[in-house]
Amino acid sequence: MWPMSFPYPERRPLDVAGRTYDYVIVGGGTAGCVLASRLSEDLSVSVLVLEKGYVRDHALSRIPTLSQDFSRNDLQVVKFKAEPVSEMPTDGGRQNVKEGIVLYGCDGLGGASRINGMMLTRGWVGEYQAWADDLGLDEWGWKDVEPCMPPTYNIEARGAARSSRESTPATTRVWLSKVTNDVSWDPIAAIHQAFRVLLIDCKPINTPAGQVLTTCSMERAMASLNLVKNEDINTSTTTAQGYYHTHTAVDVSGQRHTAYHGYLNKQIALARQDRLSICTGAAVTKVCIDTEPDGRLSTRGVFFKAVDGSTGSLEVYVKARREVILCAGALRSPQILMLSGIGPKDQLERHNIPVLRDNPHVGSHLTDHVAGPAVVISGPEHESLLTALQSPFRLLYHLFLYIWYGLGLIASPTTALVMFLQSYTLNDKTMEARRTHPDSTLSTLDASKKSNIPDFEVQITPLPCFQPTFERVTALKDTDTGKDVPAFTLWPVLMSPFSRGRVELVDADMATPPRIIHPFFTDTRNHDISVMKKALRFCMRLSEAFMKSEGQVGDDKYPYLDRCSIFMGPGMDDGMGEYEASGTGRKTVKSRTAADVTDIELETFIYRWFGTGYHQAGTCAMAASETGDERGGRLDHKEAERPFEKRINGRAGGVVDQHLRVFGVSGLRVADASIFPVIPSTHPMIPTMMVAERCARFLKSYEEFKYLQDEANREISKR
Ligand SMILES: Cc1cc2nc3c(=O)[nH]c(=O)nc-3n(C[C@H](O)[C@H](O)[C@H](O)COP(=O)(O)OP(=O)(O)OC[C@H]3O[C@@H](n4cnc5c(N)ncnc54)[C@H](O)[C@@H]3O)c2cc1C
Repeated sequence: MWPMSFPYPERRPLDVAGRTYDYVIVGGGTAGCVLASRLSEDLSVSVLVLEKGYVRDHALSRIPTLSQDFSRNDLQVVKFKAEPVSEMPTDGGRQNVKEGIVLYGCDGLGGASRINGMMLTRGWVGEYQAWADDLGLDEWGWKDVEPCMPPTYNIEARGAARSSRESTPATTRVWLSKVTNDVSWDPIAAIHQAFRVLLIDCKPINTPAGQVLTTCSMERAMASLNLVKNEDINTSTTTAQGYYHTHTAVDVSGQRHTAYHGYLNKQIALARQDRLSICTGAAVTKVCIDTEPDGRLSTRGVFFKAVDGSTGSLEVYVKARREVILCAGALRSPQILMLSGIGPKDQLERHNIPVLRDNPHVGSHLTDHVAGPAVVISGPEHESLLTALQSPFRLLYHLFLYIWYGLGLIASPTTALVMFLQSYTLNDKTMEARRTHPDSTLSTLDASKKSNIPDFEVQITPLPCFQPTFERVTALKDTDTGKDVPAFTLWPVLMSPFSRGRVELVDADMATPPRIIHPFFTDTRNHDISVMKKALRFCMRLSEAFMKSEGQVGDDKYPYLDRCSIFMGPGMDDGMGEYEASGTGRKTVKSRTAADVTDIELETFIYRWFGTGYHQAGTCAMAASETGDERGGRLDHKEAERPFEKRINGRAGGVVDQHLRVFGVSGLRVADASIFPVIPSTHPMIPTMMVAERCARFLKSYEEFKYLQDEANREISKR
């Protein structure tokens, strides 16, 4: 049963201290796993991964629904609290204060891919093309990035993907799409088939999302607002505006599939032990950078401490023969750079850190996809993920489905259907989406055009969703019944934000979390809040269309429409004050429609309920040059009118060049979500993995180039 009989080859800090490796990767998260896997394909190199967390991979940590529960201790969840947001330039200048937004991550091998929403989206052709065309990052156009995106297979490929996983080498990555009802399980397929007919085909099974989302009531509502349906979000023909079934990182047995499982699983780690060392429980404190006699900065290695204290209070050292690559994520890669002497001079001096290179961009340009609930629609108990599993019989039934088929509510991705929209194409009154631009005949659907990059998304989530920003709020309870409200949520996400935040040092100790100034509606032009207000109106209009779809009789009508009501939304007398205080709300009469809700009501609602979309990025931005172009990032009037140009970081300068090398320091790169020059208008896990793949290719091509050069030199010396 090799390799199942061997434990995962996790090295301890003392095993690797004092040694030398070709490549040292700091952080074995989403990007770190991909990079380590790719680099260690080469038999001739040695690779060390230093990861703060541990493997701790077990069946419970892979159950899709449970693995997103941040309160569980076994998931290695890490929490950061941003500074309170104190200035809100709305409501005629009134100043509100919002609690600090809580951000979550995971310190474990696989990083955030172990606890995230599992949605797999590649992003828009036009967006990457704009990096190349407009930011001078000509090695990051679509033709360069597309081959580096991990593949996702659509539901039809479920059987095929399964057999391909079984017959291909360990390096094969299997990223499967949403959980489906397609069950084919040898060798007792006949019995399974019989059960399937009984239990699955004869409803009611499906995921809760399955009922609400795939029935035509919601689809009709979306179509009535002129949205185009896309079966597959990750094809080259996907439209830039419409609604989409998402691909989900779930494997054939219904388990979460993480960067660790895809790229650095036990089979790979065991097979490559001679050249790949994965050291867990190692917290890197800084990169060791020397100043050469001629003034150049060269990376030598990294210092780290054991999380379990086995190295005492001392820092231990590993040497990097070739390069150190930071993959510690958007909040901590800039922190490590600053502690190593690369960052804004005034900040480093404030903490008595010797300044090796003054770069004001380190930690700047923090972006995030701000998100929150817009409309909560209550429905029957078995339709909401929250309440469906509270019935013991239903729980048993779904346990059986999960264990037997990898299906059912337990394997359910929380978001199976999303919409992407361009706010400026929505009709102000009807909220219908235009398929041509308001001022021309050009299509709004062509995803290869940067003018069509969506600026907001709406997720439909089978839960009454609120930000865990407000930590005391756990579930929405109905005060009439005292029970959890079975509901689903229309959840808009700001996808193309202009707001910028920062990550700063609190002190000179890596153990102290950084100070985070979250980019929560901080753009002075109020662009972001305008987009969000439109997004909320759109969601209200959509929910109204959904509720009216009752009259459209047909086989595919949502069967429980008469049990649905709009429970919460902007401008409602919603009892939410009560809810905020005690975690209970009450059913209320809807008092506002998309047509009559006021701007102030929308803003109040947003500031009250919105928070992070968990997609922090941009804190070590990639740019064509360190200091920016001749305009220093300032845009002329004409450019500033166009949506993409308004958001760019790159022209203003950055931290890494387009081969991800830290400006002014040899042997040091950053490859994770922090390098995005502009936050992608999509879910960033696949784009982050693409960055790591790209980094591996840069490093490998450099190695290959050096090898060929050495060969050539040897040839010459022989002559
Ligand atoms: C709750 C949540 C939901 C999300 N949902 C989705 C989704 O549905 N779809 C999607 O596409 N994206 C989603 N994302 C975003 C996506 O997961 C991240 O953008 C992406 O995984 C970031 O990858 P990374 O490699 O940059 O960082 P991470 O994956 O966070 O990896 C960083 C690693 O560095 C390690 N580390 C940090 N400091 C040190 C140190 N000093 N020494 C050693 N190691 C260190 C950490 O332990 C961690 O393992 C979500 C994120 C979160 C948090």
